[in-house]
Amino acid sequence: MGTSVKVTFWHNDEVQAKKIASAFFAEMERINQLMSPYIESSELYSINKNAGIKEVSIGEELYQLIELSIEIGNQTNGAFDITFASVGFLYNYRERINPNQESLLNNQALIDYRQIKLNPQKQSVLLTQEGMKIDLGGIAKGYAVDNAVALLQTLGVTSALVSAGGDTKALGKHGQRPWLLAIQDPRKKGKHAIQLPMEDEAISTSGDYERYFIKEGIRHHHIIDPKTGRSASEVQSVSIIGAKSVMTDALSTSVFVLGVKEGLALINQMPAYEALIIDKDRKLHFSNGLLAN
Ligand code: AMP
Ligand code: MG
Repeated sequence: MGTSVKVTFWHNDEVQAKKIASAFFAEMERINQLMSPYIESSELYSINKNAGIKEVSIGEELYQLIELSIEIGNQTNGAFDITFASVGFLYNYRERINPNQESLLNNQALIDYRQIKLNPQKQSVLLTQEGMKIDLGGIAKGYAVDNAVALLQTLGVTSALVSAGGDTKALGKHGQRPWLLAIQDPRKKGKHAIQLPMEDEAISTSGDYERYFIKEGIRHHHIIDPKTGRSASEVQSVSIIGAKSVMTDALSTSVFVLGVKEGLALINQMPAYEALIIDKDRKLHFSNGLLAN
């Protein structure tokens, strides 16, 4: 998943605990093998390879996640768009490469999640344009976290903290108290901007400090505004809190693209989700439900 995966949980039998931990990591790896855009045997790789050529029949799990991604695209007015990858692949953060004007223009028209055609009978996906690519980096980690917490529960665990990169879910309490989750200060590495108590809920943070480089004064990072093909620049960090990690993950990426005003408007009409935004001037903004507390 291109990120670190962690699990903390309580169990009174050490041998059993080790088995549970192995099952947890095996399940995370299974999802990685299914959804990675880099692994040639993944279903997702096959969809991208056949863009503009033919539809690809896939398993129910990936099909449903793509379907949900399209739905979130509609809910967020296109801020969440898994076809961002049609341009996204032109960035290489490690090598400090961003697309030049020409390749950006050539590929930008390929960003449009409405050009993904789903066929429920065949459970297949077609990317209608050649060169179009999808990437679930904005939602798959959250999905994997929900999935792993459900697995831990079936194995009898009642208290756990699971995280994959910026996506974390707390199951039950940490002893007598809620789990304590810290939100990173976007400009001071290792320093916390804020701490929140969590119990049976998920939190996802999207930040412009996770994967980025700065060139000629411009910060190029991994969250792409589908309208421009460039890194979204209105805010530094967005955290979303709510029941489902798959949703907090996708919504944190979406609100990052939407910015403070539109982002808060979106979250304020979703009663199950709350947002905490650090804008480009480091000012904090909260959704209505957090203000009320
Ligand atoms: P997160 O750190 O959860 O906000 O996810 C960032 C990841 O989401 C990136 O690394 C991309 O894989 C993906 N992504 C970037 N921009 C978008 C977008 N506009 N819509 C959907 N996914 C995106
Ligand atoms: Mg996200």
